[in-house]
Amino acid sequence: MKCLCCGNEMEKGFIKSSHQIFWGKDNGFWSSGDDIRLAKVTFDTFVKGNSIESFYCSNCQKIIISLEK
Ligand SMILES: [Zn+2]
Repeated sequence: MKCLCCGNEMEKGFIKSSHQIFWGKDNGFWSSGDDIRLAKVTFDTFVKGNSIESFYCSNCQKIIISLEK
């Protein structure tokens, strides 16, 4: 994937967490009802943690992810 900002080839990887991962408008520790869940929660992810495929640009220090449907 090419970076949307600079066109550099991005490195594929994963955002990882031992807990659920959300995007929210505030930086509070607990998720609010308006937050967007970035990965589905299954029994497996509940036990092993979550990961989301993402792409990293070392030039811009940006990460791009696609939300799961
Ligand atoms: Zn870039």
